Amino acid sequence: MKKVGVISLQGAISEHKEILNKSFEKLGLKGDVILIRKKEDLERVYGVIIPGGESTTISRLIKKFDLHELLVKRAEEEDMPVMGTCAGLILLARHGDESVISKGVEPLGILDIKVQRNAFGRQKESFQIPLKIKGLDKPFLGVFIRAPLIEKAYGRCEIYSTLKDGTIVMVREKNRLGLSFHPELTEDTRLHEMFLMM
Ligand code: GLN
Repeated sequence: MKKVGVISLQGAISEHKEILNKSFEKLGLKGDVILIRKKEDLERVYGVIIPGGESTTISRLIKKFDLHELLVKRAEEEDMPVMGTCAGLILLARHGDESVISKGVEPLGILDIKVQRNAFGRQKESFQIPLKIKGLDKPFLGVFIRAPLIEKAYGRCEIYSTLKDGTIVMVREKNRLGLSFHPELTEDTRLHEMFLMM
């Protein structure tokens, strides 16, 4: 039985749990989804999702519940699969923009990218757009909600998707996936399946 977890401090938690269960079913795998709030929960899982929500709050709670170091250790030393969506993407980044720094967000620094928080202009704050994604044969509907963008991807970070104007919205580095958008708010399980197959 494969156990994966969703960091369950704030944000779109139940949506990830639901779509992970559907993805296990689609892949014909026996799996279990654990809601992670404590270190002991994090020690029991094979992979972790950091959901969207409010990066300032999630960052503060990750510190408060003492999950920061263990997340970094498991990702870097054990190559544990990690997927960060929207606010979760901000939390994976090595570098943040002025807004990340001034709001006191402390990213884990496990994805070689620089992110810009709340990067899309006002009228485009929330929007949906079909995305071409590496490894998927058909477009995936990207749901963007006050999303961050990836200003730069470097080192071993591979670009998996961009908007038409070249803005980077998905990357992968080893077993870590970073997405600006919210795949858990669609019925499409393909990216969660990608995560489970890592
Ligand atoms: N704007 C939020 C933040 O910076 C992210 C929004 C989201 O996760 N949908 O934390």
